Amino acid sequence: MTRAKAYAAHQSNSPLAPWEFERRSLRENDVLIDILYCGVCHSDLHAIHDHSGMGTFPLVPGHEIVGKVREIGPAVTKVAVGDNVAVGCMVDSCMACDRCEDHLEHYCRKGATMTYRGRDRITREPTQGGYSDHIVVREDFVLSVPDGLDLERAGPLLCAGITTWSPLKLWKAGPGTKVAVAGLGGLGHMAVKLAVGLGADVTVITTSPSKVDDALALGASRVLLSSDPAAMKEARSSFNLIIDTVPVPHDLNPYLSLLDLDGTIVLVGVIQPLPEVDARVLIMGRRSVAGSMIGGIAETQELLEFCAEKNILPDCETIAVQDINHAFERMDRNDVKYRFVIDMATLQSEPAA
Ligand code: NAP
Ligand code: ZN
Repeated sequence: MTRAKAYAAHQSNSPLAPWEFERRSLRENDVLIDILYCGVCHSDLHAIHDHSGMGTFPLVPGHEIVGKVREIGPAVTKVAVGDNVAVGCMVDSCMACDRCEDHLEHYCRKGATMTYRGRDRITREPTQGGYSDHIVVREDFVLSVPDGLDLERAGPLLCAGITTWSPLKLWKAGPGTKVAVAGLGGLGHMAVKLAVGLGADVTVITTSPSKVDDALALGASRVLLSSDPAAMKEARSSFNLIIDTVPVPHDLNPYLSLLDLDGTIVLVGVIQPLPEVDARVLIMGRRSVAGSMIGGIAETQELLEFCAEKNILPDCETIAVQDINHAFERMDRNDVKYRFVIDMATLQSEPAA
């Protein structure tokens, strides 16, 4: 076992504080990664609030991990010591069911093992995430960072990026399609960049008038303020796809009306029940409501290659790990442009716990 330094929530809603724990010893197909950077996702904040009441504490969040391979198990073939690698929201799955065989490990029939708040498949010990100096991961769940991709900014591709890339690809965003993105935060700003990169015409739907200029600078051709009923009315029946990243329950009906015939709204943000949907709006326009969760390992690797080729990276604000609680406060009040990334080297200045 190796001793890991980390920042953890010691109980629900408590601020993160330094913590040390043991990472498991390497199994034959494991990779030990020194973590360089870790993105800060709104899901990390949800996890600390522990709305489900099912969380185990202490909890080390973080699933947008970029690092360097320090050591490999004897059977590892995919990566070598010194490689730049990345880890996203999951670290294991059964790898044998039909879904895993279809590269949909995140929908594994036995349940994928999440990077944090999961349980190791063999030892059942809780998994701990990337706000930490190193991590041990089964090689099949380790991504290669293509040459040329900025390590400091690549982390958010592993969650914010793949969570929006996967539905954009599945619903065929590209030239000739009109895509709207609701909520311009970490996921939303990646959705804009990726949809523009795929050739779609992109509109941002926001609650924040202060983000209009940013949305246009990110590549959107148009911005709709969701608080402006006249603009929302004028935009009725105009989109093929809406990626909805809003993290709190909200009324979908005004968004459904924005979909064109056969259009789909894909929910990726909210995980709570929503107010009733008006079935007439679905029926009259053959519209659909769908949901989507992160993405598989192969499609995440495809995303990293796409971003390296097109030079697409998140807009990041790099912070020291000691600033994480302040960063969460800012995320809570919608003051992030557009993703915090923790420089994990700052963990080394912590005294031993
Ligand atoms: P974020 O950076 O905080 O951005 C969320 C955006 O939603 C905000 O920038 C804001 O955009 C809008 N918003 C915030 N509060 C709102 C409110 N009360 N009403 C309406 N709009 C509001 O969060 P994120 O990291 O992008 O994550 C978004 C959600 O996706 C979270 O719930 C997260 O847990 C979830 N998530 C899901 C998956 C998945 O697999 N499905 C993966 C990762 C994250 P505007 O200012 O433009 O309105
Ligand atoms: Zn995330």
